[in-house]
Amino acid sequence: MQQVSEKEQRQKEKRPARWFISLPELLWGAALALLTFAFLQGVNLFPWLMLAGAIFVLASMNPGLLPGLGSRRRFQLSVVAGVEGGANLVRFESIGGQETAKRELREALEFIKESERARHLGIRPLKGILLVGPPGTGKTMLAKAAATYTRSVFLAASGSEFVEMYAGVGAQRVRQIFAEARQAARQAQRPSAIIFLDELEVLGGQRGRHTSHLEYDQTLNQLLVEMDGIRTDDSVRLLVIGATNRPDLLDQALLRPGRFDRVVRVDLPDRAGRLRILEIHTAGKPLDQDVDLEEIARETFGFSGAHLESVVNEAAIFALRAGRTSIGRADFFEAMEKVMMGEKLDRCPSAQEKRRIAVHELGHALISELVRPDSVAAVTITSRGQALGYTRQAPQDDQYLWTRRELEGQIAVCLGGSCAEQALLGERSTGAAGDFDQASEYAKKLVWGGMSPLGLVSKELLPAERLSAAISQVLEQVEEQVRKTIAGYLPFLQQQTGVLLEEERISGEVFRDRLHRWQREHGTSGEGESPGSIDRSSAALSA
Ligand code: ADP
Ligand code: ZN
Ligand code: MG
Repeated sequence: MQQVSEKEQRQKEKRPARWFISLPELLWGAALALLTFAFLQGVNLFPWLMLAGAIFVLASMNPGLLPGLGSRRRFQLSVVAGVEGGANLVRFESIGGQETAKRELREALEFIKESERARHLGIRPLKGILLVGPPGTGKTMLAKAAATYTRSVFLAASGSEFVEMYAGVGAQRVRQIFAEARQAARQAQRPSAIIFLDELEVLGGQRGRHTSHLEYDQTLNQLLVEMDGIRTDDSVRLLVIGATNRPDLLDQALLRPGRFDRVVRVDLPDRAGRLRILEIHTAGKPLDQDVDLEEIARETFGFSGAHLESVVNEAAIFALRAGRTSIGRADFFEAMEKVMMGEKLDRCPSAQEKRRIAVHELGHALISELVRPDSVAAVTITSRGQALGYTRQAPQDDQYLWTRRELEGQIAVCLGGSCAEQALLGERSTGAAGDFDQASEYAKKLVWGGMSPLGLVSKELLPAERLSAAISQVLEQVEEQVRKTIAGYLPFLQQQTGVLLEEERISGEVFRDRLHRWQREHGTSGEGESPGSIDRSSAALSA
């Protein structure tokens, strides 16, 4: 039971290699040679070296002072080609889902496209749009699409590029990127330029929070100054698009009118959005008949656009490795597990550990199937990433609301692993630590939702001890029921442990078949056998 880990989607800019030697470099080389020569002649170089060091420090604080240092272009610049040309342009159509974000963004951009009319009506120019959302959801793509849509020049920089050791450099770079944007637009004869600032929270964090020095504050102040300086009657219209996944860290001054006026939320895609993204990324790729993108969209709850792109790519790699010429359903499933859990590892747990892992995962799977029939997608004991083994639950539909029974059911599934270990192997292990964290998260939801014995509570006023007591109470109650249920299925678990050790992976369908057969043979239908909320909720959910 592992959650999808959010991989950082940072793409560092790459500069092309330069093969020629520039004049400044030649001068520096000559100076070095001269110094070496003087040293060999016995001249005392110490004072000169001190002087050179001082100059270097000054120069790196103020790039552009010395030739050859810091005069290179720092920011990723792409002059967006005409609307008709350029096959690799990002357009709004190439972004799947995110309909709300796209609509809001397009609306905001009308002011730029229709700047004449906006000026006529005396509308204050739109200076900044803030895209807020988790990594990999398409914020960079949206900013690029905005540039294509408005036929603007596009400059991108990341917040961390502005943060330096030396005071004043960050502020200088902010000035520089605004100047470069204006210049680039003039050169390309475009009426507008879009400056994209990724990881804005690094640059625009709350002032006075960084204890070490005032560098951050100066950089942020400079950004505010530059944004205030944007006018409607400028020859080049500038628009700043910021992206962040931590808007809570931003300085309030950035969000005031006239700065980042519009905040557009870019959330993880819902099922329809995921389907759209999968369609976009599989377009033009050979897929087998049995590939059902709907099904994959259903199975990938919580995946970002970047995750989905990666699933499609990994699936193609699996097909290639297997020597096939088209991508099959199994490739997609393998890829989904890889993206979710990480690469298969050659970690070799001992035979005893393997047995424990199998028991643990079967515990999860059994409870999952009893709480929510048809919910197990696969049980495996192959190690991947952080997990030794795992049970994948197939979400039936995206879920944003949870009832008490559903939460208790999820808690039960989390606790199933360690309860099975206890029942079959006599003791528990550290393997369940992650499960407990997750179970407590669900329990917390239950408390905040006013569904615990505490009733309605205030998040701020509830003392930590009472919260922790309430969580324990919920967990213990559910655990008691899980223990009873597992006690009724001991022979089944024992038998399946052997099978799982042998097969390493049992698919959801096969697991269900075996469970139902066992229930028929032993006269249980899963109901009546074990009392408690587990079966009540299963009845409620299957009804
Ligand atoms: P962010 O800036 O929000 O971290 P990016 O825009 O850099 O995300 O997206 C990274 C990659 O993920 C893109 O290059 C694209 O391949 C894929 N991707 C993300 N969101 C979408 C989407 N909504 N539609 C299509 N592809 C997407
Ligand atoms: Zn577990
Ligand atoms: Mg990005």
